[in-house]
Amino acid sequence: MTTAAGSPPGRAEALIELVGVGKTYRSGPLEVDALRGVDLRIDEGEYVAIMGPSGSGKSTLMHVLGCLDVASTGSYRLAGADVGQMDEEELAAVRNRRIGFVFQQFNLLSSMPAWRNVELPLSYAGVARAERRDRALAALARVGLAARAEHRPGELSGGQQQRVAIARALVTEPALLLADEPTGNLDSAATTDVLALLAELNALGRTVVLITHEEDVAAAASRVVRILDGEIHSDTGAGVAA
Ligand code: ADP
Ligand code: MG
Repeated sequence: MTTAAGSPPGRAEALIELVGVGKTYRSGPLEVDALRGVDLRIDEGEYVAIMGPSGSGKSTLMHVLGCLDVASTGSYRLAGADVGQMDEEELAAVRNRRIGFVFQQFNLLSSMPAWRNVELPLSYAGVARAERRDRALAALARVGLAARAEHRPGELSGGQQQRVAIARALVTEPALLLADEPTGNLDSAATTDVLALLAELNALGRTVVLITHEEDVAAAASRVVRILDGEIHSDTGAGVAA
């Protein structure tokens, strides 16, 4: 059997290693085990879809993977670093520099032109102004929107807005692109367009984790991990991990 990343066993670098990860939400007397004993290894260069019905724990898993929230139990290593040992400042640095986020609702600032939205993560990272603009324009060109740099989100179609969001996710050159239902608000033509872009970015070496509840969207990935009631139910790439 070949590995999911297409490289010989033992060679690929693990980008993500979750071991026994659990996440419990508490609100008052109520406890919800949103993740239960999740073991998951994703290597550099993989394109993985995480699938499951509503309420299965996908967004919780994304929040843990994206260092937006911490696991209640178990361990998470990202590029070899133990996320559980990081303080808030270190987590923020990891989120800003190593992970590019793409959300269903695009989350663009409507008052700013596309290029200003794209450069934002670079301002947070302290990159100088002139370099920010150059890199934002290059990221927009990479997603096919060079000619739309001065347009505000309201002047763009849904598919174009999501491409701006993908440019913003890419501008820091993150190790991981993490997309939660990125096509959830798009029509079928824009969905095809955004999935083609993600596949292209993966072909250029970017690790992509795509969260979806739609079979056709998951089919775009080279590995599908199914989650049910907070547990991994199946994994087409299983058996690869050391
Ligand atoms: P999905 O993204 O697959 O729809 P979620 O990860 O959002 O699933 O939710 C998994 C479970 O955790 C659900 O039962 C949900 O109600 C619960 N949950 C999610 N977020 C919270 C929260 N902040 N507080 C309490 N329960 C939550
Ligand atoms: Mg969700």
